[in-house]
Amino acid sequence: MLEIRPNCEMCDRDLPPDATEARICSYECTFCADCVDNVLHNVCPNCAGGFVPRPIRPRQARRPGVSLTDQPPGTKRRSLKHRLEDITAFVAATRGIPPEDR
Ligand SMILES: [Zn+2]
Ligand SMILES: [Zn+2]
Repeated sequence: MLEIRPNCEMCDRDLPPDATEARICSYECTFCADCVDNVLHNVCPNCAGGFVPRPIRPRQARRPGVSLTDQPPGTKRRSLKHRLEDITAFVAATRGIPPEDR
């Protein structure tokens, strides 16, 4: 089950559970579409994986026991541990390789 993290690890903007601009990698590193498209170029700076839009968990339990109320989103904010110049070099070295070939 996804944790549904509350913010972009890069620019720290809020990414509430219903945000259509939230992007995640396979480890659920979480970023906004703006950072993914313009800074990270579809390279996760933590794991080198590509990104997909984060699915939106329904607000209302339309099936018993499964909703945002039953499994609330995560509250722990995260931020990148890498320095910006490291990220830039990492992205430059990786972005030319399609995610399925990394
Ligand atoms: Zn961002
Ligand atoms: Zn990642």
